[in-house]
Amino acid sequence: MTDASISQLTSGAYEQALKVIESVEPRIAAATRQELADQRGSLKLIASENYASPAVLLTMGTWFSDKYAEGTVGHRFYAACQNVDTVESLAAEHARELFGAPYAYVQPHSGIDANLVAFWSILANRIETPALKRLGAKNVNELTEADWESLRHEFGNQRLLGMSLDSGGHLTHGFRPNISGKMFHQQQYGTDPETGLLDYDVVRAKAKEFKPLVLVAGYSAYPRRVNFAKMREIADEVGAVLMVDMAHFAGLVAGKVFTGDENPVPFAHVTTTTTHKSLRGPRGGMVLAQEEFAADVDRGCPMVLGGPLSHVMAAKAVALAEARQPEFQTYAQNIADNAKSLAEGFLTRDAKLVTGGTDNHIVLLDVTKYGLTGRQAESALLDAGVVTNRNSVPSDPNGAWYTSGIRLGTPALTTRGFGHDEFDRVAELIVEVLTNTQPGTTKAGDPSKASYALADGVADRVQAGADELLEKHPLYPGLELS
Ligand code: PLP
Repeated sequence: MTDASISQLTSGAYEQALKVIESVEPRIAAATRQELADQRGSLKLIASENYASPAVLLTMGTWFSDKYAEGTVGHRFYAACQNVDTVESLAAEHARELFGAPYAYVQPHSGIDANLVAFWSILANRIETPALKRLGAKNVNELTEADWESLRHEFGNQRLLGMSLDSGGHLTHGFRPNISGKMFHQQQYGTDPETGLLDYDVVRAKAKEFKPLVLVAGYSAYPRRVNFAKMREIADEVGAVLMVDMAHFAGLVAGKVFTGDENPVPFAHVTTTTTHKSLRGPRGGMVLAQEEFAADVDRGCPMVLGGPLSHVMAAKAVALAEARQPEFQTYAQNIADNAKSLAEGFLTRDAKLVTGGTDNHIVLLDVTKYGLTGRQAESALLDAGVVTNRNSVPSDPNGAWYTSGIRLGTPALTTRGFGHDEFDRVAELIVEVLTNTQPGTTKAGDPSKASYALADGVADRVQAGADELLEKHPLYPGLELS
C-alpha cells in the first residue's frame, strides 16, 4: 500500500473514531485533535520521543486491550489467550531476529518496568537460585521463615554500579530517589570533567574497588557511543553481570548504525529497552537476554508485572516488523547524520556542546553561555514552537530541576524527513531564541532560575521559520481531520 492510500484510510478511521469518542467525552476528542495539531505545528526535538507509524498507532486501539493474559505464551493464568499467544510470540520473534538475541521478553509496560524485570531476574539468577540450591528448596515457598529472612537480607544487600544522572545516566541506574537506588547499594561512575567523555579506566577502577553484582551501561543524555565490549571486559574482571539499557539508542542498534563493539546485545548478559524512542514503536519496554538469564526474565510476571498490555504487544510486533525492513536502516543512519548536522550547526554559531559534538542521536547544549538555566531556555524555546527538554550537564551547578543544559534529539524530525539543511536551520533558530532571551527576576527582585524575557518579535519570527520547515515535511501527510 502506498503512503497516500494508508493516509486516506487512516483519515477515515480516525475521523470515525473521534466521532465515537466525542459522543461520550467531547473534551477528550478535542484534546486528541489538538495534540495532533500541536505535534504537527512544532519542532519536536525531545530526544526520547518519535512519531510512530499509523499502523503502529492503529494496532493499539483494539479489543486486545480488553484481554487479561498473565503468564507466558502457552502458560497463562487466564483462559482464551490463544490470540494473545500469537501476538506475544510474533513480537518476541521479531525482537530476537532484529537484535540477534537468544531470548526476548516483550511484556514490560515501559522502560522502567523492563529495568525492574532485569534487576529482579539478575537477583533471581545470581542470589535466589544458588540460595535455594544451598538450602535444598525448590522455590521460596518451601523456605523456613528464618531462611526466607536471610534470603531477603541478601536480596537487599547487593551492589549496583551505574552512570550518574548528571553524566547522562538514567534515574533507574541507581539514582537514590528511584527504587534502583534503594534496593541496591549503589555507586555511580561519571564522565571526565574536562572532556565529558566516558573514561573506561575510571569505570574499571570503580568496579574493582566496589565489586558490584550489576554493572549498568546505557544512558539518557550522553551524546556519544559506548564500547560495550570494554564494558563486558570490566564486568568479567570483577564477576559482575553486565546490564545494558539501550532505551535511547535501540533504533540505532536495530538500524545497524551501532555494530561491532557498539552493539550491546552480544556483550550484555541482559539488555533492556523502551520501544517508543529511536525504535519508533508503541510506548513500552522489552528485555533481551542471553540463554543463561532467559528463564529468570521469563518470570517478569508475576515477579514484578501483572497482566501484559496485549494491544501494545501487538503494536510492538508491528513496529519491530517495520524495523526489520531495509528502509529502517536508512532511517537510523539519517538519525545519526542529522545529529551531526545539528551539532555542526551549533558549533559554527559558537554554541557550547557537552563533549564538543555527537556521534549518536543526542546533542547536549550547555546554555550557561547565554546566561540562562536549562529551565529558562526550555521555556523560551517552547514560546517559539521549539519543543526540547532541559537536562543536567556534568557537575551541573543548577541541579537536576533547573539544570544548565538542553537535550536535543533527531529521531522525531528525521521521521518527518528533515535532513542536513533543515537541521542546520533548526540550530540557527535555537541560537536566535537563546541569544535573545534574558534571565528574569523573582517577585522580590532577586535573580530567578525560572523566569525569563524573550525579546519582542523573536517568538513569532522563529515560529515562522519553524513553520516553513514543518510545512515542507508534514506529519502524517494526507491524514485530514475535520
Ligand atoms: N531507561 C532509559 C535509558 C531512559 O532514557 C528511559 C526514559 O526516558 C527509561 C529507561 C524509562 O522509560 P519509560 O519512561 O518508558 O519508563
